[in-house]
Amino acid sequence: MPEGDAIHRAARRLQVLVGQELAVETPHPRAAVKQLAPRLDGRRLDGVEAIGKNLLFRFEGGLVLRSHLRMSGRWRVLGREQPVFGTPWLVLRGDAHTGVLWNGPVLEIDRGVARRLGPDILAEPPDYDAMVARIRSEYQVRAIGEALLDQRLVAGIGNVWKAESLWAERISPWRRLADLADDELRAVLTEANRLMRARLDAVPGRSHVYRRKGRACPRCGTPIKSWPQGDAARMAYWCPGCQRGEEPQTA
Ligand SMILES: [Zn+2]
Repeated sequence: MPEGDAIHRAARRLQVLVGQELAVETPHPRAAVKQLAPRLDGRRLDGVEAIGKNLLFRFEGGLVLRSHLRMSGRWRVLGREQPVFGTPWLVLRGDAHTGVLWNGPVLEIDRGVARRLGPDILAEPPDYDAMVARIRSEYQVRAIGEALLDQRLVAGIGNVWKAESLWAERISPWRRLADLADDELRAVLTEANRLMRARLDAVPGRSHVYRRKGRACPRCGTPIKSWPQGDAARMAYWCPGCQRGEEPQTA
């Protein structure tokens, strides 16, 4: 799944279209039925931003188009004269460039999206106070690993950076929110931001626990564990040796 850093990279590339009146087409039949082209064609694009895993296109007149890539979606920016292959969901033609979305499972006009999402982990600067406040407004029996993936609490952290930031701060994904101090929450969020920003700037890195089940923890040598976590049962990875906190009942 594209993580928040991939969405931010797409938002950066799409900036070349901002300030222009765009010719909008929706070649894919599943996009055409949404009637987006008639509402957006010829409007000026006022801004493109990534919030969590969403790309928000703000058009003149207050229309906000939301694109979420799920597993398969992909944005590219082409030169205006370059051919567009396949049957994209959305084609945004500006003066010199064309933004193209293939396989866009979520594509809709949505005015409320910015309100429903938590603060973006990659905002500059990130609003850690607001993230901690939202996390504290949750049921405190929830595990930190679940809360980090809840896009209403903090937007943009995916499964990889959840695992890696908790490992860096030596906190088990299974620890209850009630057992964490605000400073610890803040440290995990700060680490997630640092790791994701490095990836956004294409600094190479390697994972320490993510998808390393059974291999030795690079810090203490204990074999890494994995177990599904949360309602969506996304796989959590942790070191039972050096990440403090409880273990899941069944692992
Ligand atoms: Zn360890």
